[in-house]
Parts: sequence; structure tokens; C-alpha cells
Amino acid sequence: MSRQPIVVANWKMNKLPSEAEGYIQEVAPKLAKYPNVDTVLAGQDVLLNAMVSAAKGTSVCIGAENVYWEDRGAYTGETSPAALADLGIQVVIIGHSERRNYFRETDEMVNLKTLAALRNGLMPIIAIDEAVQLESENDHAHWIVNQVVESLKGVAIADLGRVMLAYEPTAAIGSGQAMGPEITQKSLRIIRQTVADMFGQPAADQMRILYGGSVKPTNAYELLAQPDIDGVLVGDAALDAMTFIELVSLA
Ligand code: PGA
Repeated sequence: MSRQPIVVANWKMNKLPSEAEGYIQEVAPKLAKYPNVDTVLAGQDVLLNAMVSAAKGTSVCIGAENVYWEDRGAYTGETSPAALADLGIQVVIIGHSERRNYFRETDEMVNLKTLAALRNGLMPIIAIDEAVQLESENDHAHWIVNQVVESLKGVAIADLGRVMLAYEPTAAIGSGQAMGPEITQKSLRIIRQTVADMFGQPAADQMRILYGGSVKPTNAYELLAQPDIDGVLVGDAALDAMTFIELVSLA
């Protein structure tokens, strides 16, 4: 089963609107060399309008970093999934460990946001973290399985092709130390098996699963060479346009 590789930049809260356009203008022409790699740039809400405009007519998809679970209404300060879709956003990261840890997002909220994203035609990338120091391999597997099951509850099999999962062990995020490729592969295999148990093997074989946490050009190739790692979700390293291109070239 061949799954198109994908490289996602998660800019987090780092870039200014005035910086977004230049970055996209720098990367977009270079990406034409890599038609077999999907690319997503995810930015904070205030950047999205400028990002969508700059990416028009290019192969770059623009993503949001968060979304609310109601389509419209009196939810001051939240971002509507319908508004994101209307703006031309295609992808949304849901349940990043920074959202789970700093903003107390629960599995239930992640699930509601996933369903809302799908209802509005967006492609959710659901982050699966590993927030606690788990004693045994069994605990570790159980933690991952539970998050996958909870976040995908109620997702229609017809929508599953638009869902991606991203394994992001908290200790690896922003630390400079990515997880080793073999151990990461093990976790991704557990994630894919869980999807197979829920939706059947063909659906699991089609789903793209990413790794995130201190990905950089020096470790991306080995990570992406693992059979279950279909893409990478990159924070710090992807803040630099040329490094982003380098990562795409390795995918
Ligand atoms: P990092 O972030 O690449 O800076 O570790 C990854 C992420 O949080 O998505």
C-alpha cells in the first residue's frame, strides 16, 4: 500500500503575518520539484488569511493549529471550523500536546473537534501524545491505544481517508532529541493496528500516520524510512524555509 509522504510545518505561535508571505514565496516554487510529497504549512489564526492568499495557485496546503467544535455561535474568541473552510483552509491540527497540557484539552474535546473538522470538509491531523513517564511497554501501548480510540469515536469510515494521526511524544517536542526510528516505528505500528481494529485493515493501510518531535534534516530520512511513518510534523526546524525544503527533499 503506498501512501503519499507528507511534511507538515507547525509554526505554532512563532511567525508574524508580515513574515508568512515571504516564507511561502520562497518555498512554493521549490516544491514543484517534489510532486510526490504533500506539504502543509500550519499557522496561528491571525496568519491564515495572508497564508491562504500567498499559497494560492501553489501546491502548498494551509493548515490551522486548532479549531472549536461548534460550527457557529456565541463562543467568544474561538475559531469556527466553518470559517476555516470558508477561508480556504484544508487541514487542521487537533489535540497537539501543547493544547492538551497548557489548555487542558481532553480526549473528548479532541474527538468533538475531529468530528467538527470532518463535518466542515477539513482534514484533521490528530496528535497522539505521550505525556507521562510510563513504566512498562504495556502501559505505553495502552496509553496510545486509548487516545486513538477516543479521538476517532464516531468517525464515519467514509471520512477516514481525510484523517491523519501524528504520534508526538511530549519529551521529544522542542527538546532537540527525536525518538529513535525503531522505537517510533513500534508506536506507529500500535497506532495503525488500533485503526485496523476499529475500522478494518484496508482503512488502516490507507491512513497516513506522522511522527513529530525534534524532526530535522539529520534524522528525518531514517524516521521516514520506517514502514509505518508516512510523514513528519515539524516545529522548530520548519521555521526556516530552506530547512523545510530540505525536509521535503528527504521525504
Ligand atoms: P518540534 O515540534 O519539531 O519543535 O519538536 C514538533 C511539534 O510540536 O509539532
